[in-house]
Amino acid sequence: MLSCGRFVGRLPKLTRHSHANHFSRPLKYIGIVSVNNLWYSSNASDKKTYKPPGTTIKPEECVPKSRYSQPQRTVPTCESRPNASCPPSCYEACEEPADSPKSNNKPPSPPYWKILVALLIAGATIYAISSTLSSAKKSEFQKDVSKRKKDGRRHRRLLDKNKSPPNSTFIPKEVQYLLIGGGTAAFSAFRSIKSRDPKAKVLVVTEENDFPYMRPPLSKELWYNTDRKISAELFFRQWNGTQRSIFYEPAEFYSQVNNLVESDKGGVAVATGWKVTKIDVQNKTVTLDDGYELKYEKCLIATGASPKNLPVFESIDDELKDKIITFRTKEDFLDLEDSVHNPKYKNIVIIGGGFLGSELACSLARNLPEDKKVYQVYKEKFIMDQVLPQYLSEWATKKAMLEGVQCIPSSEVEDYSYINGKMSLVLSGNHIVYADQVIVAVGVEPNTELATVSHLETDPDIGGFLVNAELEARSNLWVAGDAACFYDIRLGRRRVEHHDHAVVSGRLAGENMTGAGKPYLHQSMFWSDLGPEVGYEAIGIVDSSLPTVGVFAKASESNVSTMPTSNSNETTHSVQSSIKSGTVSETVESSDQAASSTETDKSECDDKNTITEEPKKHDDFGKGVIFYLRDDIVVGIVLWNIFNRMSIARQVLARGAKYDDLNEVAKLFTIHDD
Ligand SMILES: Cc1cc2nc3c(=O)[nH]c(=O)nc-3n(C[C@H](O)[C@H](O)[C@H](O)COP(=O)(O)OP(=O)(O)OC[C@H]3O[C@@H](n4cnc5c(N)ncnc54)[C@H](O)[C@@H]3O)c2cc1C
Repeated sequence: MLSCGRFVGRLPKLTRHSHANHFSRPLKYIGIVSVNNLWYSSNASDKKTYKPPGTTIKPEECVPKSRYSQPQRTVPTCESRPNASCPPSCYEACEEPADSPKSNNKPPSPPYWKILVALLIAGATIYAISSTLSSAKKSEFQKDVSKRKKDGRRHRRLLDKNKSPPNSTFIPKEVQYLLIGGGTAAFSAFRSIKSRDPKAKVLVVTEENDFPYMRPPLSKELWYNTDRKISAELFFRQWNGTQRSIFYEPAEFYSQVNNLVESDKGGVAVATGWKVTKIDVQNKTVTLDDGYELKYEKCLIATGASPKNLPVFESIDDELKDKIITFRTKEDFLDLEDSVHNPKYKNIVIIGGGFLGSELACSLARNLPEDKKVYQVYKEKFIMDQVLPQYLSEWATKKAMLEGVQCIPSSEVEDYSYINGKMSLVLSGNHIVYADQVIVAVGVEPNTELATVSHLETDPDIGGFLVNAELEARSNLWVAGDAACFYDIRLGRRRVEHHDHAVVSGRLAGENMTGAGKPYLHQSMFWSDLGPEVGYEAIGIVDSSLPTVGVFAKASESNVSTMPTSNSNETTHSVQSSIKSGTVSETVESSDQAASSTETDKSECDDKNTITEEPKKHDDFGKGVIFYLRDDIVVGIVLWNIFNRMSIARQVLARGAKYDDLNEVAKLFTIHDD
């Protein structure tokens, strides 16, 4: 069996190879896309308001009133026109129009006292009707909630934190090593502390109810299990076919919190469900959420990040919180797993076009029964737009659609309603999408709540606790993982929200807590999967607003000559294709091509329900390497569907050199070999 350390080191590889990512087609040629000095920033003015495929978007005039929040802008009320195409449920939700024929029958004017009496009666009647309606709606809603509870849904996210130990008197007054947060960075830190100081006594204090576990399978492999029981037990299949748990260590590995200090052998104990609310750096003391204080010798902040929500959902009724969720923890996975398998839940709507939204959308679309629809709503034109150059994010979007994702681009949620047991999201342009389950995946923010009260510095731009290259915030206090804003001596100040960074920075922090005094020089990598056929690994600064050069393997000779381009603000750019042997090389001026590509986008997104065609041959960016440039120096690399080449990417990045011909550099990656 692999040791845990080896496993963690190899996790990216393990998860990568668990899929059929290796293209089995014979790859004869290498096509070269050279997109020099092309800025792929997403330009708001570029946005289109087309209707995407396969959505339940309804006509603009048919917007049911929100029960839970006031619309943030004026939305037109329903017009009950005979030929309007609103669905029945929408009509039910609409008010009777003010200009209905009935209101045109004017009776003769009565005397004033009669008007007064009539007004009083009318007022009383309106009050009675409205309170009856409101209590009817309320009881309907309550019926719905209690029914769902009866159905067996547990809403784990909404459960109270389960503190263990239950009382802080069981927590030591003083510990040698204190780790705040029990995620990947903390796990990696205690492993390296224990390997350098085997008798170390480490206390982890974490807000979650669980021992440390890894998050990446929550949006990928756990959904690929065909046996739901295995997913419920949080086991997933690795690349070698064996199963493992998302938990890094079994419960038996950990010491009891109340025995930690007495133990001669040392150990790692985890206080779960507990939150650290303050750090007194001078006195080396922390305060827990019940006011209990404990002293430390060395402390690590590994508080990670929390999902952002959309302002429109911030004040939702408690009872709707299981319908509109964010996604970060194993509880979130278990809740979502329950709800998407509820036979009554047909429409799953994911909001966000980034890593998490795109991974979840692809995983769900591929693995849920056909009677369920998975929508992905995002404000950009294509998914992964902030990371991938536009031609590639367009290609990835098509791939996601082939997985079954119903993409709704260039859209934002402006409001929502819950009527007759149905939730509707009101999107930009007054489009409506019905949703049985909404998952908000719009990014995360670092958990730096502790900073103000503890007088710690955070970065105003990229967030996170400011630390030096040794990950030290103050004396005896380090920060690692998503919450750290560290100084990368090669690429400048950074904050990274990825697994490998959590592993490597956690490990380094652990080493430094035991006296190593080492700088953070390692370039961490990250990976993402869009279903089993598209996966990529990346390193360095991977930002689509940088100029990129992409080199792709092509499946056949006929694919070589034409390459898609991005809709850039640039008027022209060159696209080169060449056969690997160097016998064919072609440069295409692509301003016209870019325009025709725009046309294609439009028609595809207008004809929303029927994206069934395979990506066009010339769009086949199956495998390749993409270089991201800053001042002509390679600062980031994406390995697109090619694996086991990260060490080469790391070397290219480390050189920090200007390359005259990135085609030559691309050859190092032997992209045609797998
Ligand atoms: C669904 C999902 C899929 C992902 N997939 C990938 C992937 O494919 N590739 C990749 O590179 N990355 C991926 N990531 C990102 C990666 O998991 C994170 O970067 C990583 O978990 C960060 O580790 P961390 O230890 O810094 O923070 P976390 O894992 O967030 O752990 C922080 C812990 O600290 C606790 N905490 C916070 N504040 C306090 C406090 N005051 N007191 C006590 N405890 C506190 C939190 O409750 C939490 O348990 C994914 C993330 C998610 C959510």
